[in-house]
Amino acid sequence: MLVLGSANADLVVPVPRRPGAGETVLGGDAVVLPGGKGANTAVAAARLGARVAFAGAVGADQYGDLLRDSLASAGVRTDLLRTSTRPTGLAYITVTPDGENSIVVAPGANSDVGDLDVDALTWDGVSVLACSLEVPVSAVARAVEAAAAHGVRPVLNLSPVAPVPPSTLALLDPLIVNEHEAAALAGSPEGLLDLGPKSAVVTLGARGALVVTPEGVTEVDAPEVPVVDTTGAGDAFAGALAAGLANGDALADAARFAARVAALSVTAAGAQPSYPTLDRVRAFG
Ligand code: ATP
Repeated sequence: MLVLGSANADLVVPVPRRPGAGETVLGGDAVVLPGGKGANTAVAAARLGARVAFAGAVGADQYGDLLRDSLASAGVRTDLLRTSTRPTGLAYITVTPDGENSIVVAPGANSDVGDLDVDALTWDGVSVLACSLEVPVSAVARAVEAAAAHGVRPVLNLSPVAPVPPSTLALLDPLIVNEHEAAALAGSPEGLLDLGPKSAVVTLGARGALVVTPEGVTEVDAPEVPVVDTTGAGDAFAGALAAGLANGDALADAARFAARVAALSVTAAGAQPSYPTLDRVRAFG
């Protein structure tokens, strides 16, 4: 599968609570971890045994090296990861004791992802394209259209939510959104299909997910797990879903698999470092 999206260094600080406007809160020790929705999705899928290439951009700096190393050590192909003249994207993340996070992203090199990157994609042997935002919508739209033209199944995690051309939405199978994004887009899960995608998946945090197709809505349970850090759970879900689809699984089965993978991901700190291998998912049951 191909993943087109963002790569960020995550600067993570544990805090007792979030600061209000004009307030300073003292946190614990900061850690720097590889992240970004696109890179996370690629690493999640590769850990599960999928053959993955990642397309995006990082800067010529230490954070870019961190991301290249992390992708490569998960087994992700990085020949489509370009070095931009802009700095690597950074995500400033605070995590509260309940495992919830708040994030500010400085996109940097991710803003540079464009037509050249999309036109460099190679489609031989690729069955699924997984995209997310944090890179320009125009690049995602072009990639989705190119995928469809090559008979490749386009999946888009519409996060953070942004206007996407209807012609792009119409090609998605599925459109993935979390419950907040779903509420911003449609009045009900079924209403997401009125935007045009062939199918949709709504992630519901600890309540699991909904798979929406023209045949109806299927509920997917989330296994109960001890929550340490939910950062990147949505990306783990998207990567595992795309890996399942690339493996030939039906959408609902891929979503059940993704819910187990994402549940395991919230039991450990960070985004990419928390993603399980296939053996670990199998041992989980
Ligand atoms: P994030 O922004 O933190 O990456 P998100 O808002 O995109 O996440 P969520 O709906 O919060 O997405 O989570 C994605 C999936 O992760 C859920 O559908 C669920 O399968 C799994 N998940 C999240 N939180 C939990 C939890 N507390 N327990 C079990 N599974 C969870």
